[in-house]
Amino acid sequence: MDSSVVIVGSGLAGYAVARELRKLNTAIPITLLSADHGGFYSKPMLSNVLSTGKDPASLLTGNTEKMRSQLKIDIRPNHCVTTINVARNVIQSTNGEDVSYDQLILAIGADQIRLPMQGDAVGKIYTVNDLDDYQTFYTALAEKKCVSIIGAGLIGCEFANDLAIAGYRVHVIDISLEPLGRLLPPEAGAFFRHKLEAAGVMFHLNTSVHSVNQTEQTIRITLKNGEEIESDLVLSAVGLKPRTELAEAAGLPVNRGIIVNRFLQTQANNIYALGDCAEVAGKFLPFVMPITHAARALAATLAGNPTPVCYPAMPILVKTPSCAMIASPPDFDMPGDWHIETNENGVKALFINEANELMGFALLGAATAEKSALTPRLPAILM
Ligand SMILES: Cc1cc2nc3c(=O)[nH]c(=O)nc-3n(C[C@H](O)[C@H](O)[C@H](O)COP(=O)(O)OP(=O)(O)OC[C@H]3O[C@@H](n4cnc5c(N)ncnc54)[C@H](O)[C@@H]3O)c2cc1C
Repeated sequence: MDSSVVIVGSGLAGYAVARELRKLNTAIPITLLSADHGGFYSKPMLSNVLSTGKDPASLLTGNTEKMRSQLKIDIRPNHCVTTINVARNVIQSTNGEDVSYDQLILAIGADQIRLPMQGDAVGKIYTVNDLDDYQTFYTALAEKKCVSIIGAGLIGCEFANDLAIAGYRVHVIDISLEPLGRLLPPEAGAFFRHKLEAAGVMFHLNTSVHSVNQTEQTIRITLKNGEEIESDLVLSAVGLKPRTELAEAAGLPVNRGIIVNRFLQTQANNIYALGDCAEVAGKFLPFVMPITHAARALAATLAGNPTPVCYPAMPILVKTPSCAMIASPPDFDMPGDWHIETNENGVKALFINEANELMGFALLGAATAEKSALTPRLPAILM
């Protein structure tokens, strides 16, 4: 009899493993437990709902019934796993049930970080990290006109552009000098900002939030530079904290994420992790493409063919219709320089090292057409 595989988490990572494993082995028993509804949806679509004219419910492309019959797996929604007993190969969930496993996969994602702030309306700040969060935010948007977003990273900028296209007044607040500071050199960030400003987004940069208070009609954000912003809703998008507590309590090493090697294996040789909860060979990459590569490698391993994950260069596409953008940033501490060409139609920024090798790029506007030519010149992330 095939050994049993238990997957915890029904996000892109959990379902990607189930799908890839089913392609290789139709008999292996797979059980998937999830703290949420357990249905399948594409999380990246959440920040494009308004501009694509969808409603949140339509993003759920596979409810649990459909996923059960499609993948021939046992799906248990509303099962939040609370304990892993590594010695007994058993997990427990909030409904008191014990589930035993031969191979356990942790695909439990990450939480949105909440910055410490003062004020009586801090509890009214929204975050969006899953379909249920988005449904709550979407409902709150009805009849509202103005939204402030804390954080000018990928998710904050995508929501800002989506809301602006849908006719909302949008403020974006960030401590950086330009938006998308982790992905773009400042000159490219400035080009991107101008495009979003032209679409109606108002940036408040080089400052941060001091306090958030309810007034009679609005929520007032007071910035550390003294400026005040009145809006109807506030959304925070300042980054992710991988969910490591479950693994840590089971005695598995964690760092930024749950530590796994290139076989996606934790210190316990039958417990694996991937997706936004995992740090794979020292890399924390909370994006879809790394999940796709990790899920394929892990499925092969689970099917009996131990396979290390390889990450090629994986440029990140930012879904901002007002400024097409794709970037493959160099590592933070990589030696080299940006070489930037800007014109009114776009920006081509290439990060070149001392050996004259291309180590990263940022392409905006018309320059995004060069993505296919440049990507093969980038070094692999893990090979
Ligand atoms: C608005 C938005 C836009 C994005 N856009 C892009 C993009 O354009 N391109 C890109 O590459 N990436 C994008 N991302 C990132 C990408 O969506 C994520 O990297 C990916 O979806 C993470 O999938 P995951 O399965 O690891 O985690 P999640 O989707 O967070 O899934 C975690 C699952 O684990 C479950 N869970 C958690 N704890 C437990 C527990 N204790 N017991 C049981 N179940 C548990 C949760 O209920 C959930 O089902 C975006 C993210 C957001 C929020």
